[in-house]
Amino acid sequence: MCNGCTRRNFLASTMAFALAAVATEAKADIRIACATSTQSTRFQRGDMLGRSGDPAFDSALIAELRRILAVFPVNPGFKYITDNNAFSMDAAVVDGTTGTVLIGLKLVKDLLKPDQGGVSVACVLAHECAHIFQFFSKEQYYDRLDGPTQRLRELHADFLAGYYLAKRMGTAPNAMRLVEKAMIDFGDYHNADPKDHGTPGQRSAALDKGYTLSLGGMTFEDAASEGEKYVRVL
Ligand SMILES: [Zn+2]
Repeated sequence: MCNGCTRRNFLASTMAFALAAVATEAKADIRIACATSTQSTRFQRGDMLGRSGDPAFDSALIAELRRILAVFPVNPGFKYITDNNAFSMDAAVVDGTTGTVLIGLKLVKDLLKPDQGGVSVACVLAHECAHIFQFFSKEQYYDRLDGPTQRLRELHADFLAGYYLAKRMGTAPNAMRLVEKAMIDFGDYHNADPKDHGTPGQRSAALDKGYTLSLGGMTFEDAASEGEKYVRVL
């Protein structure tokens, strides 16, 4: 049962976030991951939003998050921020949850522009929930995928996002082409940058591999393990 995706928790008070932000600032070793390597404004507690301003969008997002949490063994809280990125962190800001996903409204609204039924937004949300899994998995994927850059962690999150999309859509080649195009657009060639998330080809390949293994019926746990092996040789 997911506590983090109920509407009440999703819209939990700014006060709760502010208190958590204080704790976050005190915890110097907090782990944070994000969706893209673009330079992003660090989120400020005042940027935190409980609603997007579009009730239909909020309902769709909550429904998507519920679907993701039915596939991934995680239980994060969710908040909006005004940003062009999305973040995951291992600090909880909502009671009864483990870790937090911060959803950048500018990013998800940009991704909604193409006519693709919100699949790219689903991909980004699943990518962030994959980081939550990495943080708290008994296999300690976040630590195991450490390296000079963020690349292995990011490609592993892309792989697991692909795994989710197969559960969400089944065989849907046209939708996958669109979402892989979005991932290609996220990639870059700054492979020495500590924020490196992978090249366009690597991001698309990781997503595609996770999608394919999921369609073949692989369990989530086995896919997470296979994903680790796969991204190391990409
Ligand atoms: Zn990421």
